[in-house]
Amino acid sequence: SPALVWFREDLRLSDNPALTGALDHGPSLCLYIFDTSPERRALGGAARWWLSRSLMALSTAIAARGGELLVMRGDPAEILPRLVRDAGIGLVAWNRRYEASAIALDKALKAELVASGVVVESFNAALLNEPWQVKSKAGGPMQVFTPYWRAARERGTPRPPLPAPEGIRQAKLPATLRSMTLSIEELGLEPRKPDWAGGLRASWMPGEDGAQARLADFLDDGLAGYRTERDRPDRPGTSRLSPHLRFGEIGPRQIWHTVQMALETGETRGSPADAEKFLSELGWREFSYHLLFHNPELATRNFNRRFDGFGWEQDAAGLAAWQRGLTGYPIVDAGMRELWETGWMHNRVRMVTASFLIKHLLTDWRAGEAWFWDTLVDADPANNAASWQWVAGSGADAAPYFRIFNPVTQGEKFDPDGAYVRRFVPELTKLDAKFIHKPWTAPQTVLREAGISLGEDYPRPIVDLDFGRRRALAALAELRAET
Ligand code: FAD
Repeated sequence: SPALVWFREDLRLSDNPALTGALDHGPSLCLYIFDTSPERRALGGAARWWLSRSLMALSTAIAARGGELLVMRGDPAEILPRLVRDAGIGLVAWNRRYEASAIALDKALKAELVASGVVVESFNAALLNEPWQVKSKAGGPMQVFTPYWRAARERGTPRPPLPAPEGIRQAKLPATLRSMTLSIEELGLEPRKPDWAGGLRASWMPGEDGAQARLADFLDDGLAGYRTERDRPDRPGTSRLSPHLRFGEIGPRQIWHTVQMALETGETRGSPADAEKFLSELGWREFSYHLLFHNPELATRNFNRRFDGFGWEQDAAGLAAWQRGLTGYPIVDAGMRELWETGWMHNRVRMVTASFLIKHLLTDWRAGEAWFWDTLVDADPANNAASWQWVAGSGADAAPYFRIFNPVTQGEKFDPDGAYVRRFVPELTKLDAKFIHKPWTAPQTVLREAGISLGEDYPRPIVDLDFGRRRALAALAELRAET
């Protein structure tokens, strides 16, 4: 009987253990289901765009090897059992996911299929370690990154990645099931009117080839100096692999081994210390998944329950200004516009923009998490939720409550010439670097020469930094005092 590989968040052919497992069994069907069931959190707009392009790349790669990617839409709990039954499938293979609703679905499906005599095999393609494999000395989940990563490293070198299959022997799809399939275009994942995806198309090449090209470029140009350059939004100092990782177009094991190999063969100018730092960022990703697995409500519920009664402001105008990049703080506005334009934002600026929303506008971190979820191409159930809680101070191993990023000093430190601001906030292009992160302090003559009328071409600050900071500290100190 034929096998079936169910692609989900593993849209690649190399180092894909479920695909390899199915093909080892015999001729296989390759399936993707666009999941529309209400139990799963719907993908945001930018992620839908990415998914569409990624499926096209996967479909082309599968076809080039003699197979076909079958695309369906609906509830996998209904589609999969029917397909397995009607196509006479003997083995189903998939790579694991870690959101609670996905785990519940997979468990239920597995029980149902196994009960009807089908073999189900699941694998790890997304993580260096399964979330339950790394434990504290007492055997429980971990809450602090450094010991987590130490314990993860002590588990040894990740196993080497699997090669892509040379050919894909396609099993026959019974004609009666053909009507269940759709083209990728029919999923309607890309925006039409208005078409806001122009900046995304210009910035990214979704798919496995795009991911491999990014990694190769990064090892050529980016890894050398990563330790310090990674904090500079004005320079291309990071890998930008995050959306590729999010959709499983590349796996962490592949990155790990490619980096080690490049160090050994001298194919990168990056130092071992740069590589160590870079790999530890993959460690943060692993840690987020560890947190998500042990705290299924990470995206919706304060990890630290003390925050549950916190008096957030209901500042709709502030939230809207933040979303549109019109706060009057250039580094914040540049970040929010980079996000809108390209679907991605530099990590340093993610921290600054998130801190501004949470602390200076005293807005519930969940409003920011939701906006990032909708606009990031790398919107990730673990990384996004864990990072927002980290900035809020409500998370595990969180930033201390009194850490409030100052957008002016952050801008001056990490975008010293203002090149990043100029790129995304063109109104300020002509403003002298001395004032680029605080235009309201510039003399009228300087502003006039730069062609800026504050309050017209570019907003005045929507909140006074000192006021916002003191308000946040007072509210947060109260929260501490209550316990
Ligand atoms: P690199 O520096 O090249 O790092 C390599 C990889 O390591 C990344 O692709 C990513 O998978 C992982 N990584 C790097 N930094 C972190 C981190 N701080 N936490 C967890 N993993 C990390 N990352 C997402 O992938 N999806 C999100 O939805 C997301 N939301 C975030 C929200 C906020 C408020 C903040 C502060 C951070 C968020 N991050 C998120 C983490 C981080 O900003 C991005 O992973 C990083 O900017 C991606 O760029 P890169 O691939 O060039 O990173």
